[in-house]
Amino acid sequence: MQSKEVLDNNMSQTQIKPGNALSQSKPVVEVKAVTWDKDSHGLFDYENSYYDMRKFQIAKPVVIGRNKNEINCWSKNQNFSENERRETEFLLSISQNHEDRSKFSVDVPGQFRNHEQFPVRHNYLIVRSLKCKDGRNQRGYSLHPGEIIKLGRVEYRVREIKIRKPNGNGNEFEVLTTEEEAYDCMSGLPNDEVFDATKQALENQNDPSLTCRYCFQRDTSDDMMENLLINPCDCKGSSGMVHLMCLMNWIQYKIISKNNNNIATYSWKKLQCEVCTKNWPRSVCFQNQVRSLISVEKPEFPYIILEKQSTDSTTNLKANSLSLIVPSEDAPIKLGRGHQCDLRISDISVSRIHAFLKFENNRFLIFDNDSKFGTLIKLNKPYQVMTDKAAVQIGRTVFTFVLKYSKSSRNQQSALKDDKKN
Ligand SMILES: [Zn+2]
Ligand SMILES: [Zn+2]
Repeated sequence: MQSKEVLDNNMSQTQIKPGNALSQSKPVVEVKAVTWDKDSHGLFDYENSYYDMRKFQIAKPVVIGRNKNEINCWSKNQNFSENERRETEFLLSISQNHEDRSKFSVDVPGQFRNHEQFPVRHNYLIVRSLKCKDGRNQRGYSLHPGEIIKLGRVEYRVREIKIRKPNGNGNEFEVLTTEEEAYDCMSGLPNDEVFDATKQALENQNDPSLTCRYCFQRDTSDDMMENLLINPCDCKGSSGMVHLMCLMNWIQYKIISKNNNNIATYSWKKLQCEVCTKNWPRSVCFQNQVRSLISVEKPEFPYIILEKQSTDSTTNLKANSLSLIVPSEDAPIKLGRGHQCDLRISDISVSRIHAFLKFENNRFLIFDNDSKFGTLIKLNKPYQVMTDKAAVQIGRTVFTFVLKYSKSSRNQQSALKDDKKN
């Protein structure tokens, strides 16, 4: 079957009318699965019009998989034959809340542990599938620190967002989110980029013979944090010791910064020890303080820092540039390959004007500009299926999920494959 429009707006939204006895109607998830027959490095061509399409409903927890282009789903406790396991690519699973049966959610990969066959695959929420109540315009996706945005095949991590929100005392404002908070709640900043120097720095304080490899001194700063002697690489003894401040200065020297209107971009090639070639950490933690080694000149607020993830697999560096974006009053920030963009991304999988970033109601919202390969958000927590449609992409398949209340269970289309078998 072929479908012209992947994420059509034609299906009407389910409105729960007052007085409608919900207890009599059964919550179900209506699923539309659209599969592109070409496997192109996990990309999905939203401009292509030839797809296999399948619609079905689910009323209990399931696993969904693909056999060639055919999408099927099974109950979570299904036992798969060797054959089925070999021929099926398991894509995602859906959970249902035990107390509230209307709460279905798309699992985060790897969360569904009682299923050995279930692989770790990334699911991406499709920004353009999130519509306003009118069913047409995009409502935008509100970004949070730690989240990964995917434009074509290029990924950006939201490193930091600084906004202000009323603190309840009239006109006073407070900072809502910083990188440090993001680290605290582990919402996404990778552990291996943060070097915990607490134990080591306390030990080094008791050894007066140690000096810094760069300044050859012991104490240089009144700032306790900056004066810490740490050894974040594999070099031993004094030749491995460095003040946090001296390391920050060294790193600063390696960084090229560029400024244009609303965006300051900091990029680098290698940030590693010149002796043992171990990558320097991105942040150093001492007791409960975290200091970023790449210092970025930050305005008051609001701003957002996006970190471009490296596509170069020869280095194990995860990022090679940071962009600090200050929203503009009158126009959204344009992201894309074209020269008219504020944040230019030179990659063929990125459309000329791929996405927009807007600052509205104290939130940073991202919108897709009908780009070829879409603007996606990597799901880092389960996504609850709502009565408003949302679509999720896994490789070359796009699933559109919507919560509905079916009057009866006689709907034949809702039968699960394993129900048919049993
Ligand atoms: Zn030093
Ligand atoms: Zn070293």
